[in-house]
Amino acid sequence: MPELPEVETVKRGLKPFILNKKIVQVEVKSDKGFQGAEADVNEARAIGLRRRGKALLIDLDNGFTLMIHLRMTGQLIWRGASLSEQTVSVETENQFAAGHPSKNFTSELPNSQTRVIFVFSDGKLFFNDQRKFGFVKVLPTTEVELDKFIAQLGKEPWEMQPGELFEKCRRHARAPIKAVLLDQKNIAGLGNIYADESLFYAGVHPATMAGALTEEQVAKILEGACKIMTAAIESGGSTMATYVRPDGTTGDYLEKFAQVFRREGKKCYKCGSVIEKTRCAGRGTHVCPTCQKMPSEGTERA
Ligand SMILES: [Zn+2]
Repeated sequence: MPELPEVETVKRGLKPFILNKKIVQVEVKSDKGFQGAEADVNEARAIGLRRRGKALLIDLDNGFTLMIHLRMTGQLIWRGASLSEQTVSVETENQFAAGHPSKNFTSELPNSQTRVIFVFSDGKLFFNDQRKFGFVKVLPTTEVELDKFIAQLGKEPWEMQPGELFEKCRRHARAPIKAVLLDQKNIAGLGNIYADESLFYAGVHPATMAGALTEEQVAKILEGACKIMTAAIESGGSTMATYVRPDGTTGDYLEKFAQVFRREGKKCYKCGSVIEKTRCAGRGTHVCPTCQKMPSEGTERA
């Protein structure tokens, strides 16, 4: 579930807590969650936080970089020193949690989902991952751009011209547009949520064959991706502050901006039709049957 806006939120939120701080020790709880040598992390200082697509990059002062992929259920949770061993309230300042929203945001850590703990002099950074698809990889900073995840990435939506995305659509003319958007080689950072929302924004059915779209439609999809992801980043993505309401109940930040995602059975805000859930590009897909007309030709059944 964490997509580009969530990873950007992690990057921005974590920065004030770990930048220029030294990692005293790394504790690996699950080998699958940590690739590389612990010795390349211990005693190193975090000197920069970057993001490429859905990967978070933490540059260290010893020439190595931590590449963190949250994948489906990953989370990064910072607990300041005085809070490290106890359950904390949302209002407490020296803590931060983002990524896949769950009770871990506020519960006692480490727990059975904790894969890696980065011990800093004044607090701990927990990498939790319920489904174990996420991982931390240690690699020389000079080799980050050569890593297979990074090297293949397409441009960020904000850096892309409509004509470039239109060209990708022509190259994958027979693929449903949703599949083209989900392929990180074509455009970086879009997952299921923002693909569905961008297509609704443009009034395009997700199963429309990419080659059947006009340049105007493709431009509208790209405009939607940029606008919606910017709004998600500005709203704080799925952080602790947006997940746990001030009264202690939990909510989903998606409810703030989602027009179709996880709204099946509910009325379209634009036209009042009932939002449907179908499958496209192998993924659960949300559409308004009125706003996003299925073209009679140029579609592919998933
Ligand atoms: Zn509608």
